[in-house]
Amino acid sequence: MAKRLGIYVHIPFCASKCAYCDFNSFAGSERLMPKYHNALLKHFRESRQVLQEYYADTVYFGGGTPSYYGARRLADLFNALKREALIFRNAEVTLEANPDSVHLRDLTLLWAEGFNRISLGAQTANEDLLKLIGRRHTWKQTVLAVKTAREAGFSNISLDLIYGLPTQTEADWAETLDRAIGLGPQHISCYGLKLEPGTPMYASYNRSALLPDDDAQADMYLYAVETLERAGYAQYEISNFAKPGFPSRHNLKYWLLRDYIGFGAGAASCAGGVRYKYVPGLRQYISGVQNDHTILEEQERIGLLDQSAEYIMLGLRTVRGISGKEYFRRYRSDFSPLEEELEEYRVKGWAVREDERWHFTPAGFLLSNLLIGRLLDLRGEQRRRDETPWMEQTEESFYLHGELPEGDEVFFHPQEA
Ligand code: SF4
Repeated sequence: MAKRLGIYVHIPFCASKCAYCDFNSFAGSERLMPKYHNALLKHFRESRQVLQEYYADTVYFGGGTPSYYGARRLADLFNALKREALIFRNAEVTLEANPDSVHLRDLTLLWAEGFNRISLGAQTANEDLLKLIGRRHTWKQTVLAVKTAREAGFSNISLDLIYGLPTQTEADWAETLDRAIGLGPQHISCYGLKLEPGTPMYASYNRSALLPDDDAQADMYLYAVETLERAGYAQYEISNFAKPGFPSRHNLKYWLLRDYIGFGAGAASCAGGVRYKYVPGLRQYISGVQNDHTILEEQERIGLLDQSAEYIMLGLRTVRGISGKEYFRRYRSDFSPLEEELEEYRVKGWAVREDERWHFTPAGFLLSNLLIGRLLDLRGEQRRRDETPWMEQTEESFYLHGELPEGDEVFFHPQEA
Protein backbone atom coordinates (compact mmCIF):
# COMPACT_ATOMS: atom_id res chain seq x y z
CA MET A 1 0.00 0.00 0.00
CA ALA A 2 1.51 3.32 -1.00
CA LYS A 3 1.91 6.03 1.57
CA ARG A 4 1.33 9.75 1.66
CA LEU A 5 4.29 12.06 1.48
CA GLY A 6 5.22 15.69 1.98
CA ILE A 7 7.99 17.03 -0.27
CA TYR A 8 10.13 19.92 0.94
CA VAL A 9 12.47 21.90 -1.32
CA HIS A 10 14.96 24.20 0.39
CA ILE A 11 15.82 27.43 -1.41
CA PRO A 12 18.58 28.91 0.77
CA PHE A 13 19.01 32.27 -0.98
CA CYS A 14 18.09 35.62 0.58
CA ALA A 15 18.56 39.20 -0.65
CA SER A 16 20.16 40.01 2.71
CA LYS A 17 20.42 38.38 6.10
CA CYS A 18 17.93 39.44 8.79
CA ALA A 19 19.54 40.35 12.10
CA TYR A 20 17.90 37.52 14.09
CA CYS A 21 18.23 34.76 11.52
CA ASP A 22 20.22 31.59 12.02
CA PHE A 23 18.41 29.57 9.36
CA ASN A 24 20.40 27.86 6.68
CA SER A 25 20.25 30.77 4.24
CA PHE A 26 22.81 32.82 2.37
CA ALA A 27 22.94 36.40 1.13
CA GLY A 28 25.22 37.43 -1.73
CA SER A 29 25.35 33.94 -3.28
CA GLU A 30 23.09 34.62 -6.28
CA ARG A 31 25.78 33.51 -8.73
CA LEU A 32 25.38 29.98 -7.39
CA MET A 33 21.66 29.87 -8.18
CA PRO A 34 22.04 28.20 -11.61
CA LYS A 35 24.37 25.52 -10.24
CA TYR A 36 22.13 24.94 -7.23
CA HIS A 37 19.18 24.65 -9.58
CA ASN A 38 20.88 22.01 -11.69
CA ALA A 39 21.89 20.11 -8.57
CA LEU A 40 18.29 20.08 -7.35
CA LEU A 41 17.05 18.84 -10.73
CA LYS A 42 19.61 16.04 -10.72
CA HIS A 43 18.74 15.18 -7.14
CA PHE A 44 15.02 14.94 -8.04
CA ARG A 45 15.82 12.64 -10.98
CA GLU A 46 17.98 10.39 -8.84
CA SER A 47 15.22 10.17 -6.24
CA ARG A 48 12.53 9.05 -8.66
CA GLN A 49 12.45 5.49 -7.41
CA VAL A 50 11.93 6.41 -3.79
CA LEU A 51 9.48 9.20 -4.66
CA GLN A 52 7.37 6.79 -6.70
CA GLU A 53 6.76 4.69 -3.62
CA TYR A 54 4.57 7.48 -2.30
CA TYR A 55 1.67 9.74 -3.16
CA ALA A 56 2.65 13.32 -2.43
CA ASP A 57 -0.17 15.45 -1.03
CA THR A 58 1.94 18.44 0.03
CA VAL A 59 4.88 20.24 -1.56
CA TYR A 60 6.61 23.06 0.28
CA PHE A 61 9.17 25.48 -1.15
CA GLY A 62 10.83 26.98 1.92
CA GLY A 63 13.93 28.95 2.64
CA GLY A 64 15.65 31.18 2.59
CA THR A 65 13.44 33.26 0.37
CA PRO A 66 11.98 31.19 -2.47
CA SER A 67 10.26 34.27 -3.94
CA TYR A 68 13.74 35.81 -4.37
CA TYR A 69 14.91 32.75 -6.34
CA GLY A 70 12.60 33.62 -9.24
CA ALA A 71 9.25 32.29 -10.42
CA ARG A 72 10.61 30.62 -13.56
CA ARG A 73 13.09 28.61 -11.58
CA LEU A 74 10.42 27.65 -9.02
CA ALA A 75 8.01 26.58 -11.76
CA ASP A 76 10.81 24.57 -13.36
CA LEU A 77 11.50 22.78 -10.07
CA PHE A 78 7.85 22.02 -9.47
CA ASN A 79 7.44 20.70 -13.01
CA ALA A 80 10.47 18.49 -12.53
CA LEU A 81 8.89 17.13 -9.35
CA LYS A 82 5.66 16.45 -11.23
CA ARG A 83 7.71 14.22 -13.57
CA GLU A 84 9.49 12.31 -10.84
CA ALA A 85 6.80 11.99 -8.16
CA LEU A 86 3.09 11.19 -8.01
CA ILE A 87 1.69 14.49 -6.80
CA PHE A 88 -2.02 14.83 -6.18
CA ARG A 89 -3.76 17.54 -8.16
CA ASN A 90 -5.28 18.83 -4.95
CA ALA A 91 -1.93 18.78 -3.14
CA GLU A 92 -1.17 21.76 -0.94
CA VAL A 93 1.71 23.53 -2.71
CA THR A 94 3.26 26.28 -0.62
CA LEU A 95 5.60 29.09 -1.55
CA GLU A 96 7.43 31.00 1.16
CA ALA A 97 7.81 34.62 0.16
CA ASN A 98 8.99 37.93 1.48
CA PRO A 99 6.87 41.00 0.79
CA ASP A 100 9.68 42.76 -1.09
CA SER A 101 10.01 39.97 -3.67
CA VAL A 102 6.34 39.41 -4.48
CA HIS A 103 5.30 40.37 -8.04
CA LEU A 104 1.98 39.82 -9.77
CA ARG A 105 3.50 38.30 -12.91
CA ASP A 106 5.49 35.78 -10.85
CA LEU A 107 2.60 34.75 -8.65
CA THR A 108 0.28 34.43 -11.64
CA LEU A 109 2.74 32.06 -13.26
CA LEU A 110 3.15 30.01 -10.08
CA TRP A 111 -0.59 29.84 -9.50
CA ALA A 112 -1.06 28.53 -13.04
CA GLU A 113 1.56 25.83 -12.36
CA GLY A 114 -0.31 24.59 -9.30
CA PHE A 115 1.07 26.57 -6.36
CA ASN A 116 -1.92 27.32 -4.14
CA ARG A 117 -0.63 28.54 -0.78
CA ILE A 118 1.66 31.43 0.05
CA SER A 119 3.37 32.04 3.37
CA LEU A 120 4.53 35.64 3.76
CA GLY A 121 7.20 36.73 6.23
CA ALA A 122 5.46 39.84 7.57
CA GLN A 123 6.94 39.73 11.12
CA THR A 124 5.58 43.04 12.47
CA ALA A 125 3.49 46.01 11.38
CA ASN A 126 5.81 48.44 13.16
CA GLU A 127 8.19 50.09 10.68
CA ASP A 128 10.85 50.84 13.31
CA LEU A 129 10.85 47.26 14.49
CA LEU A 130 11.09 45.99 10.91
CA LYS A 131 14.26 48.05 10.52
CA LEU A 132 15.61 47.02 13.90
CA ILE A 133 15.39 43.32 13.03
CA GLY A 134 16.93 43.88 9.60
CA ARG A 135 13.93 43.20 7.40
CA ARG A 136 14.13 44.68 3.91
CA HIS A 137 10.43 45.47 3.54
CA THR A 138 7.84 47.77 5.03
CA TRP A 139 4.40 46.91 6.36
CA LYS A 140 2.96 48.69 3.32
CA GLN A 141 4.72 46.12 1.15
CA THR A 142 3.14 43.33 3.21
CA VAL A 143 -0.31 44.82 2.57
CA LEU A 144 0.50 45.05 -1.12
CA ALA A 145 1.88 41.49 -1.20
CA VAL A 146 -1.36 40.10 0.25
CA LYS A 147 -3.36 42.03 -2.34
CA THR A 148 -1.08 40.83 -5.14
CA ALA A 149 -1.33 37.20 -4.00
CA ARG A 150 -5.14 37.44 -4.08
CA GLU A 151 -5.08 39.03 -7.51
CA ALA A 152 -2.93 36.17 -8.77
CA GLY A 153 -5.52 33.68 -7.50
CA PHE A 154 -4.21 32.63 -4.09
CA SER A 155 -6.95 32.11 -1.52
CA ASN A 156 -4.78 30.40 1.08
CA ILE A 157 -2.47 33.03 2.51
CA SER A 158 -0.44 32.80 5.69
CA LEU A 159 1.40 35.53 7.58
CA ASP A 160 4.40 34.91 9.86
CA LEU A 161 4.65 37.27 12.84
CA ILE A 162 7.28 37.62 15.60
CA TYR A 163 6.72 38.88 19.14
CA GLY A 164 9.08 39.60 22.00
CA LEU A 165 11.24 41.93 19.89
CA PRO A 166 13.60 44.46 21.52
CA THR A 167 11.65 47.57 22.61
CA GLN A 168 8.37 45.97 21.49
CA THR A 169 5.51 46.83 23.82
CA GLU A 170 2.30 44.90 24.32
CA ALA A 171 0.50 47.72 22.53
CA ASP A 172 2.84 47.33 19.52
CA TRP A 173 2.09 43.64 19.43
CA ALA A 174 -1.65 44.21 19.74
CA GLU A 175 -1.50 46.59 16.81
CA THR A 176 0.46 44.14 14.67
CA LEU A 177 -2.11 41.43 15.39
CA ASP A 178 -4.99 43.77 14.57
CA ARG A 179 -3.47 44.84 11.30
CA ALA A 180 -2.57 41.27 10.36
CA ILE A 181 -6.12 40.09 11.11
CA GLY A 182 -7.41 43.07 9.13
CA LEU A 183 -5.71 41.69 6.01
CA GLY A 184 -7.88 38.57 6.29
CA PRO A 185 -5.25 35.84 5.81
CA GLN A 186 -6.39 32.24 6.22
CA HIS A 187 -3.49 31.38 8.51
CA ILE A 188 -1.26 33.21 11.00
CA SER A 189 1.91 31.94 12.70
CA CYS A 190 3.21 33.75 15.80
CA TYR A 191 6.75 33.00 16.92
CA GLY A 192 8.41 34.31 20.07
CA LEU A 193 11.83 35.79 19.35
CA LYS A 194 14.66 33.53 20.44
CA LEU A 195 18.05 35.18 20.25
CA GLU A 196 20.40 32.75 18.52
CA PRO A 197 24.12 32.93 19.30
CA GLY A 198 26.12 34.16 16.34
CA THR A 199 23.43 36.50 15.02
CA PRO A 200 23.85 40.29 15.06
CA MET A 201 20.84 40.62 17.33
CA TYR A 202 22.34 38.22 19.84
CA ALA A 203 25.45 40.39 20.00
CA SER A 204 23.36 43.54 20.48
CA TYR A 205 20.55 42.36 22.73
CA ASN A 206 21.56 39.29 24.70
CA ARG A 207 20.64 40.07 28.32
CA SER A 208 19.52 43.53 27.24
CA ALA A 209 16.83 45.31 29.25
CA LEU A 210 15.29 46.32 25.92
CA LEU A 211 14.09 42.77 25.38
CA PRO A 212 10.66 41.96 26.80
CA ASP A 213 11.27 39.56 29.72
CA ASP A 214 9.78 36.04 29.92
CA ASP A 215 6.62 37.25 31.63
CA ALA A 216 6.03 39.97 29.06
CA GLN A 217 6.64 37.48 26.24
CA ALA A 218 4.22 35.02 27.86
CA ASP A 219 1.59 37.76 28.08
CA MET A 220 2.07 38.58 24.40
CA TYR A 221 1.62 34.92 23.56
CA LEU A 222 -1.56 34.53 25.59
CA TYR A 223 -2.90 37.77 24.15
CA ALA A 224 -2.30 36.44 20.63
CA VAL A 225 -4.07 33.14 21.37
CA GLU A 226 -7.10 34.99 22.73
CA THR A 227 -7.22 37.65 20.03
CA LEU A 228 -6.81 35.22 17.17
CA GLU A 229 -9.39 32.87 18.62
CA ARG A 230 -11.87 35.76 18.81
CA ALA A 231 -11.12 36.63 15.20
CA GLY A 232 -11.91 33.07 14.07
CA TYR A 233 -8.38 31.63 13.93
CA ALA A 234 -8.34 28.35 15.82
CA GLN A 235 -5.06 27.42 17.41
CA TYR A 236 -3.93 24.05 16.06
CA GLU A 237 -0.30 24.10 17.20
CA ILE A 238 1.73 26.05 19.75
CA SER A 239 2.50 28.84 17.26
CA ASN A 240 -0.03 28.29 14.50
CA PHE A 241 -3.59 29.51 13.99
CA ALA A 242 -5.95 28.99 11.10
CA LYS A 243 -9.42 29.69 9.82
CA PRO A 244 -11.48 26.46 9.54
CA GLY A 245 -10.03 24.21 6.85
CA PHE A 246 -6.72 26.07 6.57
CA PRO A 247 -4.16 24.51 8.94
CA SER A 248 -0.92 23.92 7.05
CA ARG A 249 -1.22 20.36 5.81
CA HIS A 250 2.50 20.20 5.18
CA ASN A 251 3.60 21.41 8.60
CA LEU A 252 1.12 19.07 10.25
CA LYS A 253 3.10 16.20 8.75
CA TYR A 254 6.08 17.14 10.93
CA TRP A 255 4.00 17.18 14.08
CA LEU A 256 1.93 14.10 13.29
CA LEU A 257 5.00 12.02 12.43
CA ARG A 258 4.09 11.57 8.78
CA ASP A 259 6.70 10.89 6.12
CA TYR A 260 8.40 13.80 4.38
CA ILE A 261 11.36 14.01 2.04
CA GLY A 262 13.47 17.14 1.71
CA PHE A 263 15.73 18.30 -1.10
CA GLY A 264 18.43 20.94 -1.05
CA ALA A 265 21.23 22.13 1.21
CA GLY A 266 20.56 21.27 4.85
CA ALA A 267 17.15 19.78 4.05
CA ALA A 268 15.85 17.21 6.53
CA SER A 269 13.81 14.10 5.75
CA CYS A 270 12.00 11.54 7.78
CA ALA A 271 10.67 8.57 5.85
CA GLY A 272 10.32 4.87 6.40
CA GLY A 273 11.54 5.14 9.96
CA VAL A 274 14.82 6.81 8.96
CA ARG A 275 15.68 10.42 9.61
CA TYR A 276 18.43 12.08 7.61
CA LYS A 277 19.78 15.50 6.78
CA TYR A 278 21.90 16.87 3.95
CA VAL A 279 25.03 18.97 4.18
CA PRO A 280 24.13 22.63 4.79
CA GLY A 281 26.70 24.38 2.56
CA LEU A 282 25.70 25.48 -0.93
CA ARG A 283 28.97 24.40 -2.54
CA GLN A 284 29.08 21.15 -0.57
CA TYR A 285 25.58 20.27 -1.70
CA ILE A 286 26.15 21.24 -5.34
CA SER A 287 29.45 19.43 -5.71
CA GLY A 288 28.19 16.42 -3.76
CA VAL A 289 25.21 15.97 -6.07
CA GLN A 290 27.10 16.71 -9.30
CA ASN A 291 30.10 14.53 -8.47
CA ASP A 292 28.12 11.70 -6.92
CA HIS A 293 29.66 12.14 -3.50
CA THR A 294 27.65 11.67 -0.38
CA ILE A 295 25.60 14.66 0.70
CA LEU A 296 24.33 13.07 3.89
CA GLU A 297 25.35 14.91 7.01
CA GLU A 298 23.47 12.77 9.49
CA GLN A 299 21.29 9.72 9.33
CA GLU A 300 19.62 7.63 11.99
CA ARG A 301 17.09 4.90 12.18
CA ILE A 302 14.42 6.00 14.61
CA GLY A 303 13.94 3.27 17.17
CA LEU A 304 10.56 2.67 18.72
CA LEU A 305 11.52 4.42 21.91
CA ASP A 306 12.48 7.54 19.98
CA GLN A 307 9.28 7.34 17.99
CA SER A 308 7.20 7.20 21.13
CA ALA A 309 9.12 10.21 22.52
CA GLU A 310 8.44 12.09 19.32
CA TYR A 311 4.80 11.10 19.45
CA ILE A 312 4.58 12.80 22.83
CA MET A 313 6.80 15.80 22.00
CA LEU A 314 5.31 16.60 18.63
CA GLY A 315 1.75 15.51 19.41
CA LEU A 316 1.62 17.82 22.40
CA ARG A 317 2.65 20.75 20.22
CA THR A 318 -0.74 20.41 18.54
CA VAL A 319 -4.28 20.77 19.79
CA ARG A 320 -4.97 17.32 18.31
CA GLY A 321 -2.79 16.12 21.15
CA ILE A 322 -2.09 12.51 22.09
CA SER A 323 -4.24 9.55 23.03
CA GLY A 324 -3.60 6.59 25.29
CA LYS A 325 -5.21 4.18 22.82
CA GLU A 326 -3.13 5.43 19.93
CA TYR A 327 0.00 5.31 22.07
CA PHE A 328 -0.63 1.70 23.02
CA ARG A 329 -1.56 0.68 19.47
CA ARG A 330 1.60 2.18 18.03
CA TYR A 331 4.14 1.40 20.74
CA ARG A 332 2.53 -1.36 22.81
CA SER A 333 3.37 0.68 25.87
CA ASP A 334 1.50 1.49 29.02
CA PHE A 335 0.08 5.00 28.92
CA SER A 336 -1.21 5.02 32.51
CA PRO A 337 1.85 6.72 34.15
CA LEU A 338 1.60 9.46 31.52
CA GLU A 339 -2.14 9.71 32.03
CA GLU A 340 -1.66 10.24 35.77
CA GLU A 341 0.79 13.03 35.11
CA LEU A 342 -1.52 14.60 32.52
CA GLU A 343 -4.33 14.43 35.05
CA GLU A 344 -2.20 16.56 37.37
CA TYR A 345 -1.62 19.02 34.53
CA ARG A 346 -5.39 19.12 34.00
CA VAL A 347 -6.00 20.06 37.62
CA LYS A 348 -3.47 22.88 37.26
CA GLY A 349 -5.14 24.16 34.10
CA TRP A 350 -2.29 23.16 31.78
CA ALA A 351 -3.98 20.32 29.89
CA VAL A 352 -7.43 19.14 28.92
CA ARG A 353 -8.83 15.79 27.95
CA GLU A 354 -11.32 15.75 25.09
CA ASP A 355 -12.66 12.61 23.41
CA GLU A 356 -9.90 10.48 24.90
CA ARG A 357 -7.20 12.82 23.63
CA TRP A 358 -5.01 15.02 25.76
CA HIS A 359 -3.78 18.42 24.68
CA PHE A 360 -2.27 21.46 26.33
CA THR A 361 -4.12 24.67 27.09
CA PRO A 362 -2.42 27.96 26.10
CA ALA A 363 -0.97 28.10 29.64
CA GLY A 364 0.33 24.55 29.14
CA PHE A 365 1.86 25.43 25.75
CA LEU A 366 3.88 28.11 27.52
CA LEU A 367 5.37 25.46 29.82
CA SER A 368 5.47 22.75 27.20
CA ASN A 369 9.23 22.06 27.34
CA LEU A 370 9.09 21.45 31.05
CA LEU A 371 5.85 19.48 31.01
CA ILE A 372 6.89 17.27 28.08
CA GLY A 373 10.25 16.68 29.77
CA ARG A 374 8.46 15.26 32.81
CA LEU A 375 6.30 13.01 30.65
CA LEU A 376 9.34 11.65 28.85
CA ASP A 377 11.03 10.82 32.16
CA LEU A 378 8.09 8.59 32.99
CA ARG A 379 8.79 6.23 30.15
CA GLY A 380 11.76 4.38 31.67
CA GLU A 381 10.13 1.00 31.42
CA GLN A 382 9.66 1.47 27.70
CA ARG A 383 13.38 1.14 27.22
CA ARG A 384 13.05 -2.55 27.99
CA ARG A 385 10.15 -2.95 25.61
CA ASP A 386 12.10 -1.24 22.88
CA GLU A 387 14.71 -3.95 23.07
CA THR A 388 12.11 -6.64 22.36
CA PRO A 389 12.49 -7.96 18.77
CA TRP A 390 8.77 -8.28 17.93
CA MET A 391 8.41 -4.53 18.35
CA GLU A 392 10.08 -4.18 14.95
CA GLN A 393 6.85 -5.45 13.34
CA THR A 394 4.82 -2.77 15.04
CA GLU A 395 7.34 -0.26 13.85
CA GLU A 396 7.08 -1.39 10.24
CA SER A 397 3.27 -1.37 10.24
CA PHE A 398 3.25 2.10 11.72
CA TYR A 399 4.65 3.45 8.46
CA LEU A 400 2.12 1.70 6.25
CA HIS A 401 -0.66 4.21 6.42
CA GLY A 402 -2.51 5.89 3.59
CA GLU A 403 -4.84 4.53 0.94
CA LEU A 404 -4.59 3.96 -2.77
CA PRO A 405 -6.37 6.74 -4.62
CA GLU A 406 -8.85 5.86 -7.37
CA GLY A 407 -7.73 6.43 -10.97
CA ASP A 408 -4.74 8.37 -12.17
CA GLU A 409 -6.68 11.52 -13.07
CA VAL A 410 -5.98 12.74 -9.55
CA PHE A 411 -2.29 13.28 -10.30
CA PHE A 412 -0.37 15.90 -12.17
CA HIS A 413 0.67 14.28 -15.43
CA PRO A 414 4.30 14.34 -16.51
CA GLN A 415 3.37 15.68 -19.95
CA GLU A 416 1.92 18.78 -18.32
CA ALA A 417 5.28 19.52 -16.84
S1 SF4 B 1 14.39 36.26 4.91
FE1 SF4 B 1 14.05 34.55 6.33
S2 SF4 B 1 15.66 33.06 5.86
FE2 SF4 B 1 16.24 35.00 4.89
S3 SF4 B 1 17.58 35.98 6.36
FE3 SF4 B 1 15.52 36.75 6.77
S4 SF4 B 1 14.64 35.37 8.31
FE4 SF4 B 1 16.47 34.37 7.45
